[in-house]
Amino acid sequence: MDETSTSAADGPDAATSPFRARLAFDLDVDICVVGAGLAGLTVAREAARLGASVAVLEGRQVGWNASGHHLGTVMPGFGLPVADLIERVGLEGARELWALSKQGAEYVRATATEELIPGIGMSEGVLEVSNVDAGETLIRRLHTLAGDFATEVEGWQVDRVRSALRTGRYFHGIHYPKAFQLDGRKYVHGLAALATRMGARIFEETPVVNIDFSGIRKRIVTPSARLRATHIVLAGNIHLGAPLKRLSDTLLPVWRYAALTEPLGAALADVIAFRGSVTDSDGIDHFRIVDGDRLLWASPETTWDARPKRFGAAVQRRIATVFPQLGKVPIAEIFGGALGVTVHGMPQIGQLRKGLWVASGFGRQGLNTSAMAGQLIARSILWGDDRWRLFSPFELVWAGGTTGRIAGHFIGLWARGASSAAGALARYREGVRAKERVREARLAAANLKAGTRGPPRRRPPPGAVRPAPPAPVREAAEPRPASSQESEHISGGPM
Ligand SMILES: Cc1cc2nc3c(=O)[nH]c(=O)nc-3n(C[C@H](O)[C@H](O)[C@H](O)COP(=O)(O)OP(=O)(O)OC[C@H]3O[C@@H](n4cnc5c(N)ncnc54)[C@H](O)[C@@H]3O)c2cc1C
Repeated sequence: MDETSTSAADGPDAATSPFRARLAFDLDVDICVVGAGLAGLTVAREAARLGASVAVLEGRQVGWNASGHHLGTVMPGFGLPVADLIERVGLEGARELWALSKQGAEYVRATATEELIPGIGMSEGVLEVSNVDAGETLIRRLHTLAGDFATEVEGWQVDRVRSALRTGRYFHGIHYPKAFQLDGRKYVHGLAALATRMGARIFEETPVVNIDFSGIRKRIVTPSARLRATHIVLAGNIHLGAPLKRLSDTLLPVWRYAALTEPLGAALADVIAFRGSVTDSDGIDHFRIVDGDRLLWASPETTWDARPKRFGAAVQRRIATVFPQLGKVPIAEIFGGALGVTVHGMPQIGQLRKGLWVASGFGRQGLNTSAMAGQLIARSILWGDDRWRLFSPFELVWAGGTTGRIAGHFIGLWARGASSAAGALARYREGVRAKERVREARLAAANLKAGTRGPPRRRPPPGAVRPAPPAPVREAAEPRPASSQESEHISGGPM
């Protein structure tokens, strides 16, 4: 079936209308997907494309939770840092998993075209910046990503980062020229439309309240109808609830909030010259410019469900902390969604028992990973492709129930506090280094005037760091003379 055309039966509205009926009659299908977020919709679209009859049961509306309230940044990889991934499964295993994550990003890229999803607004380039002066760590990661994981990356020196982002809070950066961003809400609704065009049926306001998965044909119970299916895909994230409480208990829920500012005028471009998404390496702030002069900014998090409106002031404070030049920006809209975070930091993808599948735990990086999960599960059900087994080392681990949530909150606070302290220390050291350089220059000038050879050796003040040699990060930067031998561009294959 051609995804770019709607059939007469679909009508132009069947695929794009925000209203979809609730399931009011009993139904028999090959695959029942629970949850119409990014994960469930990708499974549905792919399984329907491969010829299965598919019903998606959504307790509220398409994209009701995180999938309709994210920032739309698409990167390769997982929430788990690459070094930890290697430690966990070895270099070869990590490379295979990373390659799948890149395929997930490519799936989103191929879907997010103007032809398939009009107005999707895809643009390239994502910058990950460091809150601390960590050149050595950065260069190691650059080598790993470019060399071992064939991912196109560029190292940006502090000066380059600071000319793109006028703040003293960030040091080095990793630029992913092939990572990209899109309009998040359009993407999830576009995905629903595409799944529908492939023949999948989506029912909203249809919560699954019970599942009997004992037989070959499994029974799914909703308040108004029953459904029978050979395969059930649980893509309900943290809201799955009663049907499989033990599965929900393996996710630590984290609510993340974001704000869209009012137009900020030309001042914004003076402060933020980078046009793609920016994330900091501690996962605290994540932002980009949209509509020319507005800021889209995600930062605050809680481990309980709170009204997003409460966090407008917190986002304003974060923006003013990172870019004091902008002052207190007016907020036009504030939104948020719940993430399911696993104990090991990797998504839950696979078959729990015959015909019962799980696709959840995508955390803060759900776009590429849910796309990857959707493809893997659909292909496994219909083609017998068993690459989902690469995720087997990451079992379902109990996230600790209520105690775990409270602990998770304090761990989160501690981690944010620790990284902000590390950032403050890095900026303090940088200040001391700068003052030291000025003093050295003054002393040298004075000595020159007095006719002496050089400054006497002095002991550094307590806590000061010696003037650092140029940071070892290689820079992709501006065009260089062709004769330059020191290639400062680290890049691998296409992302
Ligand atoms: C503020 C914010 C910014 C983000 N930014 C990015 C970003 O830039 N890039 C990125 O990659 N990721 C980002 N994310 C993360 C990403 O949005 C999530 O990882 C992803 O959307 C999770 O998708 P999902 O399908 O697993 O879950 P969900 O979106 O939660 O979808 C699950 C659906 O299942 C339904 N459901 C649950 N239980 C039942 C049931 N029993 N019966 C019927 N239906 C049920 C729910 O109603 C829900 O609609 C961000 C998240 C937030 C909150």
